[in-house]
Amino acid sequence: MTATTYSEVWDLDVFFKGGSDSPELQKHLIKTEELIQNFEAKVNNWTPINSPNDANYLQELLTDLEVAAKKLIQAGAFVGCLLAQNTEDKKAYSLDAKITSLSAGFQTALGSLDNLLTSIDDGVWQQLVTVEPLKELAFVLTESREKAKEKLSKEEEALISALEVDGYHSWGQLYDLIVSKIKVSFTENGEEKQLSVGQAHNKFSSSERDVRSAVFKNWEKAWGEQADFLAKTLNHLSGFRLNVYKKRGWEDVLKEPLSINRMEKETLETMWAVISENKQKLVQYLERKAKLLGLEKMSWFDLDAPYGNTESKVSYQEGAEFIEQNFAHFGDKMAAFAKIAFEDQWIEAEDRPGKAPGGFCTGLPESKQSRIFMTYSGTPSNVSTLAHELGHAFHSFAMRDVPFLNCNYAMNVAETASTFAEMIVADAAVKNAKDEEEKLVLLDDKIQRTVALLMNIHARFLFETRFYEERKHGTVTVEKLNELMLEAQKEAYCGALEEYHPLFWASKLHFFITGVPFYNFPYTFGYLFSLGIYAKALEEGKGYEEKYMALLRDTASMTVENLAEKHLQVDLTQKDFWEKAVHICLDDIDEFLELTKDKK
Ligand SMILES: [Zn+2]
Repeated sequence: MTATTYSEVWDLDVFFKGGSDSPELQKHLIKTEELIQNFEAKVNNWTPINSPNDANYLQELLTDLEVAAKKLIQAGAFVGCLLAQNTEDKKAYSLDAKITSLSAGFQTALGSLDNLLTSIDDGVWQQLVTVEPLKELAFVLTESREKAKEKLSKEEEALISALEVDGYHSWGQLYDLIVSKIKVSFTENGEEKQLSVGQAHNKFSSSERDVRSAVFKNWEKAWGEQADFLAKTLNHLSGFRLNVYKKRGWEDVLKEPLSINRMEKETLETMWAVISENKQKLVQYLERKAKLLGLEKMSWFDLDAPYGNTESKVSYQEGAEFIEQNFAHFGDKMAAFAKIAFEDQWIEAEDRPGKAPGGFCTGLPESKQSRIFMTYSGTPSNVSTLAHELGHAFHSFAMRDVPFLNCNYAMNVAETASTFAEMIVADAAVKNAKDEEEKLVLLDDKIQRTVALLMNIHARFLFETRFYEERKHGTVTVEKLNELMLEAQKEAYCGALEEYHPLFWASKLHFFITGVPFYNFPYTFGYLFSLGIYAKALEEGKGYEEKYMALLRDTASMTVENLAEKHLQVDLTQKDFWEKAVHICLDDIDEFLELTKDKK
């Protein structure tokens, strides 16, 4: 066994000593601001001469861009860590505001640069990006240029950005404000309490059905009371988005989300088609689960209900060693990497008050290190979360020598390495379960996630595409929104539920996110994509690690179809890959059905 006991507190001093009071950080921010201003000036001073000689100036600009961006990301990640470890750190909030304003200036300069690229003729551009050192950046540079071309003029786009502040993003913020005021009443021990939506939502994973159904009744009521405001918010937010698309001449509402995720529509359609064809097994699981819970049929509010209870606790040290051991079955680099992360205090896991909720992994590019944040209380799912976040860190590690511009991967591949790492550990946990009951609890946990990704997310996708079509013809009423949602849920769950959640369009934050459109299908894509890679790794054994890392290195410099073609030799627009991936999830269900066949 390991001789060292791992610390549960991370080390941030290696980046900047002294937390939010750090003089080094102050100096770093001043330097960052200067670099951004210089970059902006340099962009604005450039008039491409439209010859291959433009490569020299462009190369210089890109070097400056990289230096400034890394400084900015380094500072942003550090301050993000400060805020997470102590939500009362007031100085960190003002540092955060400073970084946000630096980012905004930087983004504007980047937009101007993309625009300048469009003034170079296609023929010249082709020559430009086939010569080193721009050659290896050809994909991302051409992508930026193409995206800029598909937009309106620089002036018009600048006007849209300016108007978005109060006319688009503010609708998203209004949503947050309305939601923050919503209270869901709930009676506990004879006492009526007013729960926030977050607290109320946690009750859906209660093991008592009375609790779940009581909360759901008041949950629907609370959202229903705000439905008029929320429908108006959603209508204007989507209306703004559609109007911008229309002005740019974009007809398909999926154009932007697909291009952000660097994928073809055909791939998306094939993925959903395979999922739909294989839903019967998920329905069987829902039926069995209903039976085990003593129900005729599951309802929406039963979907997060746990199977039984496991008392087993895993200490942080045990969890860490379990992860290291199981990563080692897959590959030496991943195991060695995890060891470094534990030993060098890359992880903040201590269970103490004052920390932010949730978990994340953030990269500090100047130091080529990552930091992981979570609160570890010893549950099996904490171990999975820890493995998940280590997977993200490993993705950055695999990419550490990739040119900076080739590191910006999209949401649909962002979860590849994390899901992969989580699968290794979750599968090992199922295999190592001390008895059948514990095995069922762990399996059920895995399957619930599958149901969420293949059914719940599918409902969100079906609703959102149909809603946007409807919205093109005018405002959509609350009644219609409910109707569209109910229809989408029935379809996505194959009618397997007794009661649905028609107001889900209101209660789900993701429909109101303005930063990224269609915040749904990339989750499902990422999950299945990762499972497909996992299947390949199981087939090939330990030697697969090198190939896996090569795939990770390419995640941000090609389309997902090319990525899959190059590293997995599969065509994502065809069904085979997706079928394999879906079957990995279905195997869990088979095992669950087999183990529970004699239970009442
Ligand atoms: Zn993640």
